[in-house]
Amino acid sequence: MLETVVAVVEQSAGGQDPWTLGTARDLYDLPFNDLIYRSHTFHRANFDANSVQLSKLLNIKTGGCPEDCGYCSQSAHHASGLTASKLMKLDDVVSEALKAKESGATRYCMGAAWRSPKPRDEPAIVEMVKAVKSLGLETCMTLGMLSPQQAETFADAGLDYYNHNIDTSERFYPEVITSRTFDDRLETLAHVREAGIKVCSGGILGMGESVDDRIDMLVTLANLPVPPESVPINMLIPMPGSRLANAGPVDPIEFIRIIALARLMMPASSVRLTAGRTAMSDEMQALCFFAGANSIFIGDTLLTAANPGNDRDSSLLSRLGLRPTSVEMQGEL
Ligand code: SF4
Repeated sequence: MLETVVAVVEQSAGGQDPWTLGTARDLYDLPFNDLIYRSHTFHRANFDANSVQLSKLLNIKTGGCPEDCGYCSQSAHHASGLTASKLMKLDDVVSEALKAKESGATRYCMGAAWRSPKPRDEPAIVEMVKAVKSLGLETCMTLGMLSPQQAETFADAGLDYYNHNIDTSERFYPEVITSRTFDDRLETLAHVREAGIKVCSGGILGMGESVDDRIDMLVTLANLPVPPESVPINMLIPMPGSRLANAGPVDPIEFIRIIALARLMMPASSVRLTAGRTAMSDEMQALCFFAGANSIFIGDTLLTAANPGNDRDSSLLSRLGLRPTSVEMQGEL
């Protein structure tokens, strides 16, 4: 059985056959030790197994979003008590980026609670990309849907990554979001890719989806013409006031299996352990790193949610002997 599955992985990872739910599910269902042994072997073949890339995420425009994502405290459809803010000023973004760099971040991600950027906002976004890049940081934006022209504009400014999560499977997507479609998401990802910006796209576990929905989300990502360079896997943080405020917890073993599967299906992508780390034990995070996760967000907030904070992360990385990935190392990968 294991040999057959390994052959499937090697064939699919070589780009010869598209992934199917069946082939991916066979891997997911392997005995846990076989699955993470295999994913760790793939991880080691493609990355320095003892380094973790550190990013920092800043909310540059909070709340009042017209979208209805069931998990989000920033949606105007949810009574989360959040006050909507205006777009942050360039100087404030730059001073936060400097602090992030001093904390060891190599990538600075800026998020705005928009359906899509308005033309009047584009010049400010361009200035932010240029200013953060000039600090020697990689830049990432998450601003909602982009037209081909907007993607070109941000690519010309030097934007390195664009984050746009598909969140879940195509089947389960309408249970979580009704204000835009799964195809809308894929369209923006295509515009970003065509403009030459690297793609960051993943999803969230714990929204009431089935295991097959989680696997199907990875199948969609792995079967893109070029898989995302960065694949964030979030564990839902139930936000008060959101539609998913009362969602139940995710089984840690199921979560680690998805990390391992992401590593096997997209061996050259960074797999980011994203939201939900405050609810994960150190041991669970260690197993995620072993299974193939190699990127985290640092700092004590993640948009509007809590994150472990630099002291806890420094202690964890040091106890595990994990080093932050430098910008130079990223270039070699
Ligand atoms: S996840 Fe993004 S697009 Fe969805 S409601 Fe929140 S801010 Fe808006």
